[in-house]
Amino acid sequence: MNPLPIHDPLINKDHTQAASFGNLVDTFGRIHNNLRISVTDRCNLRCVYCMPEDVQFLDSKELLSFEEITAFVKIAVSRGVNKVRLTGGEPLLRRDLSTLVGFLSQIKEIKDLSLTTNGMLLKSQAVALKQAGLNRITISLDTLLPDRFKDLCKRDGLEQTLEGIDAGINAGFQSIKLNTVCINGINDDEVVTLAKFAREKQIEIRFIEYMPIGANPWEKAKVMVAHEILEKIDKEVGPLVPATNYDPMAPAMEFVYEDGKGKVGIIASVSKPFCQSCNRIRITAEGKLRNCLFALEEIDIRPFLRPEVDEKSILTMLETSVISKWAGHQFNTKEFIKPLRTMHAIGG
Ligand code: SAM
Ligand code: SF4
Repeated sequence: MNPLPIHDPLINKDHTQAASFGNLVDTFGRIHNNLRISVTDRCNLRCVYCMPEDVQFLDSKELLSFEEITAFVKIAVSRGVNKVRLTGGEPLLRRDLSTLVGFLSQIKEIKDLSLTTNGMLLKSQAVALKQAGLNRITISLDTLLPDRFKDLCKRDGLEQTLEGIDAGINAGFQSIKLNTVCINGINDDEVVTLAKFAREKQIEIRFIEYMPIGANPWEKAKVMVAHEILEKIDKEVGPLVPATNYDPMAPAMEFVYEDGKGKVGIIASVSKPFCQSCNRIRITAEGKLRNCLFALEEIDIRPFLRPEVDEKSILTMLETSVISKWAGHQFNTKEFIKPLRTMHAIGG
């Protein structure tokens, strides 16, 4: 077999966009229209690649309220943000999340409102989220083996997650995808079974390369890299070809099975970083604005949302954050400094 062409998101994708006046454009010309909002730092799992077992969680008073989040989003959309993803920690632990979804889905400038979840609580919330206007859900699933789930996530929960996936599919969202982190020596032997599982369920699976953002010491040797994943699937599940109808700004390289039955995405953050086309900004659950997952600095927005909204200052903070964005993370170099926050406290 010929090695699968790993199409370079920067070469093969047309990621050029015309900036309009008022867009959040950084010094590298990247337009930031994609906002990730963490609604909580709490989680009902403790995935070893993401967070430590013992954590001092934020007090509920520290979290941005739904009204504060909505006010912030309305200001961000005035600068061209039109994609919003809710995440965490585990976002479904935030009480009445569908109320926030309802507030955000009323903002007409938002073209895509999505959620990333571990799926554990989705069974009871899927319908309410759909009715509130959520468009898409990504569900994390790293193993189909109950004992391994417990080793990897430090809690039982495979059955609940699988029920959550089915509930998501049955609720009729625009799309349901799976996110899988493959770590050598931990779950690299499940790439094929996970890909087959997704194909049978007729949903896309995206493999994310393991990044140095969790609590555990990270080693490059543990990263199962994009081409290894693709080659295994191509050989053992079905031949893959690069997808043609991909979102040029999305970080995933996408492939479809030659028989047309299914899609596989690869987020090659380590072996093929996509920083050059990054369009993301993030806000943490307590209101810290971050211009990169790996940012070492952040801007505290909460004082400008509480007790009252200071729109002008928030706009200045948004512009300041974007304009100071670096070219990209450095985790393939000696210069890399791991952020103090682990993934669950940033919002993945
Ligand atoms: N709790 C939700 C979940 O697990 O989907 C949302 C938050 S979680 C931080 C978002 C995504 O980040 C998950 O898909 C998770 O697998 C991914 N993630 C966490 N730590 C990671 C790491 N070190 N490398 C790559 N992806 C990671
Ligand atoms: Fe929780 Fe998601 Fe992190 Fe796992 S990846 S510990 S589910 S926040």
